[in-house]
Amino acid sequence: QPIVSLQGITKSFSNATVALKNLSLDIGAGEFVSLLGPSGCGKSTALRLIAGLSSPTNGRIVWPGEAPGQGDHELGFVFQEPTLMPWATVFANVHLPLRLKGRSVAVARDEVMDALEMVGLAGFADSYPRELSGGMKMRVSIARARVTRPKLLLMDEPFAALDEITRFKLNNDILRLWETLGWTVIFVTHSVFESVYLSSRIVVMAARPGRVVADLAVDAPYPRT
Ligand code: ADP
Ligand code: ADP
Repeated sequence: QPIVSLQGITKSFSNATVALKNLSLDIGAGEFVSLLGPSGCGKSTALRLIAGLSSPTNGRIVWPGEAPGQGDHELGFVFQEPTLMPWATVFANVHLPLRLKGRSVAVARDEVMDALEMVGLAGFADSYPRELSGGMKMRVSIARARVTRPKLLLMDEPFAALDEITRFKLNNDILRLWETLGWTVIFVTHSVFESVYLSSRIVVMAARPGRVVADLAVDAPYPRT
């Protein structure tokens, strides 16, 4: 059964913009799904609905593994900007989601360090965001999104603000983590290259109004080591 199921989702905004029209989509465990399409086709809107940051105008979002009304699905969200707290260390930034669940540094230290280890930044736990490159800040954001071990990771054009080489390196990091850890990921991008390189499945969307025009399975196009 899918982790999350979007059933006939329509989303209109108060200014009469129809961002999504009758969108249906099942996301299965272990899939790496790219939502690919031009600016304005509704990708971010779809992600925000899945994250519960906004509600559909019509249709339903169902989490089949959960008791009805429970709504405790854990998810991690990586935004386009790294959105780290500048006054806090890398450790404190990654600790935050656990702290919000009442887990003190003493209890959570190993989990935070594991998450930093995962993105290759354990040696930077005591650094501040301003001391890190753009690519490193993005990796801290990924560690923070993963530290609670959510079953679904949502990424909204996470590399848009980065240069090509950094993007390429981060693509490889993400791919390696997905392959070793078996994450379920929904990844919003308008880069055909990124979607083909990273995904196990590409959902192509078109604007006016936002709808799915293709849903493709991807066989790893490059040898992966
Ligand atoms: P994408 O992520 O594919 O670029 P979005 O989901 O951000 O697209 O936007 C889809 C459409 O909905 C666009 O036309 C956008 O202008 C519109 N839109 C998004 N958010 C709002 C909002 N809060 N109010 C009005 N229109 C919005
Ligand atoms: P960007 O590609 O944004 O410049 P990188 O992640 O490649 O960022 O890192 C920038 C610099 O920081 C590089 O010189 C790299 O050697 C150093 N760096 C990045 N990650 C680590 C790490 N885990 N340990 C030591 N140095 C690192």
